[in-house]
Amino acid sequence: MQTATRLDELEPYLFATLAKNIEEKRAQGVDVINLGSGDPDTPTCAGVVEAMRDAVADPANHRYPTNRGKPAFLHAVARFLAARFDVSVDVTSEIVPTLGGKEAVHHLALCALSEGDICLYPEPAYPIYKSAATLANAKSHVIELRKECGFLPDLDAIPADVARRAKLLFINYPNNPTTAVADVAFFEKVVRFAKLNDIFVVHDNAYSEICFDDYHAPSFLQAKGAKDVGVEIFSLSKGWNMTGWRIGFIAGNEKLIGAMRHLKPNIDAGPFGAIQDAAITALEFQRSFPQEMSRIYQERRDIIVPALRRMGLQLDAPKSTLFLWAELPATLTSTKVSQRLFDEAGVVVSAGRSFGPSCDKFIRLALTAPTPRLIEAARRFGELRLS
Ligand SMILES: *Cc1c(COP(=O)(O)O)cnc(C)c1O
Repeated sequence: MQTATRLDELEPYLFATLAKNIEEKRAQGVDVINLGSGDPDTPTCAGVVEAMRDAVADPANHRYPTNRGKPAFLHAVARFLAARFDVSVDVTSEIVPTLGGKEAVHHLALCALSEGDICLYPEPAYPIYKSAATLANAKSHVIELRKECGFLPDLDAIPADVARRAKLLFINYPNNPTTAVADVAFFEKVVRFAKLNDIFVVHDNAYSEICFDDYHAPSFLQAKGAKDVGVEIFSLSKGWNMTGWRIGFIAGNEKLIGAMRHLKPNIDAGPFGAIQDAAITALEFQRSFPQEMSRIYQERRDIIVPALRRMGLQLDAPKSTLFLWAELPATLTSTKVSQRLFDEAGVVVSAGRSFGPSCDKFIRLALTAPTPRLIEAARRFGELRLS
């Protein structure tokens, strides 16, 4: 027997290979510092854990949840979007809870793409957009994000026949891995492009709540006409240190939300009721928690950025996300540099190459190691000469 061919087209998940190498290195006695994946290292917001304790004991939460979401959850989402972004959404037709952002990406692709349709997504990018297009049997068109364009997609460069045949565009700002941010004017340009070509837009706003200095990331839904063409994915994973909990939501375009409500009962039953209750506490009463976390990441950013610059790498201090995206000196490649940092400093970083062939001049570092470990990483970088 043979497993399905579609699996052959999925790339092995980046961090699976990495985990094996780290294990081997640690077994050799090396004190490895992992700045590879962006998974918050500190515990979930305490108030949320507390709320979960009560919610898990409530028998009403022991039965099947609904894919529509608890009314209290939907109202908490609507109030959050109004308070944070001045965006208003209809709780009956414009919100759907999800098992995190990753699930949202996959199921939105299944909702928007028929076999053979074109899916537009950027490179570099969160690898899941490509997997989602593949599993939906769609064709892909990659939009290269270039430093000269602030890592924003050049929509005018998309060939007209490709744009016409495209059904879905994924974008993500604040951006993983480039840390680039976008403003509402850019989102309005995206809306015009989508309307012109009849394309659904999915904006992945996974990092909206992790912002530095005086920056506050906007919502795609603030753009005029955004709800006519698309939706925004939010996740509690990064802001409230809830990657293990699997909770997020999609808000916006009624047609896509309706399609999700049609699709999802065929696949899952929505997030555990107790987790929805805990998420209400996060969205309603713990809005300052992501700001406290942001201060911690900002402090870590300010430890590592100068260390990278001293090694000859170029980068702007990011305004958001859990990452640094650093450009290498001209003679070096990301595969070589990440290997050397691993071998010679015991520090794991992600090679830009793993986000696509156009990214071999960059490495990505995650700020999700305890601050003393980042100080130690900076010290080890100080002893290295790359070129
Ligand atoms: C982390 C991340 C997500 C979402 O993660 P979930 O835990 O599935 O909510 C989505 N998009 C990007 C770009 C991310 O980096």
